Amino acid sequence: MTKQSGKDASNTTTRAADTPRAEDRADDGPSNFVREIIADDVARGRQGGRVATRFPPEPNGYLHIGHAKSICLNFGMAEEFGGTCNLRFDDTNPAAEDIEYVESIQADVRWLGFDWDDRLYFASDYYDKLYRYAVYLIEEGKAYVDGLSPDQIREYRGNYYTKGKHSPDRDRPIEENLVMFERMKQGEFADGQYVLRAKIDMASPNLNMRDPPIYRIRKMSHHRTGDTWCIYPMYDFTHGLSDQIEGITHSICTLEFEDHRPLYDWFLDQLEPVLDGDIRPQQIEFARLNLTYTVMSKRKLLQLVRDGHVRGWDDPRMPTLVGMRRRGFTAEALRRFCDRIGVAKRDGVVDVALLEHALREHLNATSPRVMGVLRPLKVVIENFPEGQVEEFDAPYHPEDPGYGSRKVPFTREIYIERDDFREDPPKKWFRLAAGREIRLRYACLITCVDVIKDPSGQVVELRCTWDPQSRGGTSPDGRKVRGTSHWVSADHSVAAEVRLYDRLFTQENPLDLEEGQDFTDLINPDSLEVLTDCRVEPSLAGAAPESRYQFERLGYFCVDADSTDQRLVFNRTISLRDSWAKLEKKLDKQPARKAKNKKPTTASKGASTSKS
Ligand code: ATP
Ligand code: MG
Repeated sequence: MTKQSGKDASNTTTRAADTPRAEDRADDGPSNFVREIIADDVARGRQGGRVATRFPPEPNGYLHIGHAKSICLNFGMAEEFGGTCNLRFDDTNPAAEDIEYVESIQADVRWLGFDWDDRLYFASDYYDKLYRYAVYLIEEGKAYVDGLSPDQIREYRGNYYTKGKHSPDRDRPIEENLVMFERMKQGEFADGQYVLRAKIDMASPNLNMRDPPIYRIRKMSHHRTGDTWCIYPMYDFTHGLSDQIEGITHSICTLEFEDHRPLYDWFLDQLEPVLDGDIRPQQIEFARLNLTYTVMSKRKLLQLVRDGHVRGWDDPRMPTLVGMRRRGFTAEALRRFCDRIGVAKRDGVVDVALLEHALREHLNATSPRVMGVLRPLKVVIENFPEGQVEEFDAPYHPEDPGYGSRKVPFTREIYIERDDFREDPPKKWFRLAAGREIRLRYACLITCVDVIKDPSGQVVELRCTWDPQSRGGTSPDGRKVRGTSHWVSADHSVAAEVRLYDRLFTQENPLDLEEGQDFTDLINPDSLEVLTDCRVEPSLAGAAPESRYQFERLGYFCVDADSTDQRLVFNRTISLRDSWAKLEKKLDKQPARKAKNKKPTTASKGASTSKS
């Protein structure tokens, strides 16, 4: 058995402070103790030098980013050592499992970029074999049918401080056990009336070894085996044996199974004489991924979905792979993130900022730049003729000419971002204000000559003039124009809805609860903001769902599947860097030059929040 020394090279807790360290790592990832164990086994020719791993989800929910870590590790190790990785559904609990999940999980693993070729397996395919193994254990006097109720079993098990007690059925003769187990299988008993238990040691300091149940009665249809079975093998019994059946060499799982490892080995030891081949899988535990500001257990995620706190498993605020994909995450960004956080042996919490960093990095490199206006303010260019269209060339990517360019139409009426105008500009305000001049990105310089308000005092329109000499956006006489705004043509732009997201929970650890609190009490009421009157440049018309863009100055956006021919829907995947929000906050704190009619502005929200 491999001794897992403290070789754990990677970080356990990737808090913000650790982030730069993580960034410094090579992109192929830090070394980790799992890799070291496998490399050592391969070097010593253990298991014939073969490497076979598996990703074993239970189909009782959608995959989340924690699973992505496990997928990257299992498939990654197989790839690195020229081995194989199976996809195996651990489907031993008919109550919670569903074909919907089986399908979504396969789609998610593929989307992440991994392929199990023809090695798709189900633990339920092994039910016959597992049953024979259980019968063998009975024959060897290593298992017995117990009539204690579930409550009694718990009570008899004892706890950390007290030894367990033997069940009166523990010494049931082998012949009788065989008959009883067969009768369990034939459906003669009710759920919970009997269980088959391994006969190990009721005094073991490891509670998992105190005669754990290995088969229980569940009169329920299974998503694959239908009504063939009414007894189902328990996870601990099934898992290691499934590994053995599939010839898995390294069974990588999360830390909570560390105390189950003796049981994993016990089943393999007892059954050794009847197992096929001489494969002896080895369980290796690593720390599960936890992320700040989210929850990761499928049960909790299901609760969020069932109770309507989110719109579904694929709600873009969810840490599920379908949710993140819908939000605009790339598989590449997730893989990079998983590489960078490394593999640890002690539980910790990774700062979500690290994930966001990997995402921004990839989106920055791969997103075409376009213009969209989230909260439009109409601007009329008084000296620009009605009906005329001027087209400006705008490159899609500042660093990569390979992305090409498009023409953006400029017309007499345009929209700019409401936040880009201030009636009472603070000091160092370089964007638009009465009498000020700014640059419209890729287009020209405009000067605000008049501000039109409605009866309530709300600014509804700006009157501006343009400088025809400034076509392309360069100042014709070297005069300084520092501010640049994004914009769209009023007539030519396309209507859009934009969904802005913030963290789903208000607290870094949503499971750190006070008495009487439920984790759903910590849901951020402002985690979704829907803007319905947005306008985007015409080149986006008809963009397909999942297309990703950078809206200049606003962040990265992704077309949502809710889009129709009439109206595009975008999700903001993530804002640009935080620095802009910080700057604006600073500006807001400075006293306005002419402090008249001071109304608190909510304007900064859309363009500058970077919390999401
Ligand atoms: P959950 O706690 O979300 O219900 P689970 O462990 O019950 O997760 P499984 O379907 O059994 O879900 O998980 C499949 C594989 O993914 C297992 O090997 C499990 O250890 C691994 N896994 C699950 N959650 C995480 C996580 N947060 N980080 C790393 N690996 C994980
Ligand atoms: Mg599990």
